[in-house]
Amino acid sequence: MAQPHHLVRSRPWQIPTGIDYREARIEGVDLGAWTVRLAGGIRLGYDVLVIATGAVLLPEETEGPTGPGWGENVCTFYDLPGAVGLHHALERFAGGRVVIDVADLPVKCPVAPLEFAFLADRYFQRCGIRDRVQLAYATPLDGVITDPVAAKALGSLLARKGIELVTEFTFGEVDGIVGRLVSYDEREVPFDLAVVVPLHGGAEYVGRSEGLGDELGFVPRRSAHSPASRTSGGVRDR
Ligand SMILES: Cc1cc2nc3c(=O)[nH]c(=O)nc-3n(C[C@H](O)[C@H](O)[C@H](O)COP(=O)(O)OP(=O)(O)OC[C@H]3O[C@@H](n4cnc5c(N)ncnc54)[C@H](O)[C@@H]3O)c2cc1C
Repeated sequence: MAQPHHLVRSRPWQIPTGIDYREARIEGVDLGAWTVRLAGGIRLGYDVLVIATGAVLLPEETEGPTGPGWGENVCTFYDLPGAVGLHHALERFAGGRVVIDVADLPVKCPVAPLEFAFLADRYFQRCGIRDRVQLAYATPLDGVITDPVAAKALGSLLARKGIELVTEFTFGEVDGIVGRLVSYDEREVPFDLAVVVPLHGGAEYVGRSEGLGDELGFVPRRSAHSPASRTSGGVRDR
């Protein structure tokens, strides 16, 4: 419903004056030396380090998403090129089964896939084809969301809107040719259009920086390195 140029803003424009803004690739963090290494050999010292390099999509970590059908009948809206591809796929879609699937957790904004399901329901109504579309929502969780109160309310909302809920579904494979998602426990969910939220990972440098990240490049909530004082070095809770 939006165009890319409405969503993308200039980064320097967002930074208030009085903040030293550098645009450079972060190579790594040296926890012991309290420094961030930038491309070009520049080192920045810190007293407090806020890691805000986000998360990247790792669709290639699961069998199938980026194979045949990727960007055609297997799409994601979790990055801008993916969202643009899905926009075109929805324009082409004349009816059939749409499955929204969260591959694994953690993902950015766990409610965004649900929001998408509700928006899709509304979108197909506006197109006048809702009666020709079956919507399903597949999640690795045992309910729509982890919080039990929200899960109950949002689960009822899914049911009221006629959106099928498939729980404890951790996908291991996407077959874009046949049109089916296969879970690790070998259950199958057929689709005409799959909207997948791929596995996420942190920025690569986080995983590379000794003592900072885990194997997926995320900073663990509790780290072995958790001293607060600069004299001992280390990471505190994110
Ligand atoms: C579809 C969707 C809907 C969402 N809805 C909401 C919502 O309604 N409310 C909400 O609060 N959140 C929402 N989120 C989550 C929100 O977008 C993220 O939590 C937030 O953007 C994270 O901010 P960040 O600065 O950590 O990372 P990002 O916004 O991802 O920014 C990271 C930046 O770091 C840069 N970077 C990465 N690695 C390096 C490196 N080595 N060197 C230099 N730069 C690097 C990247 O280029 C990028 O510019 C949503 C996310 C998605 C995908």
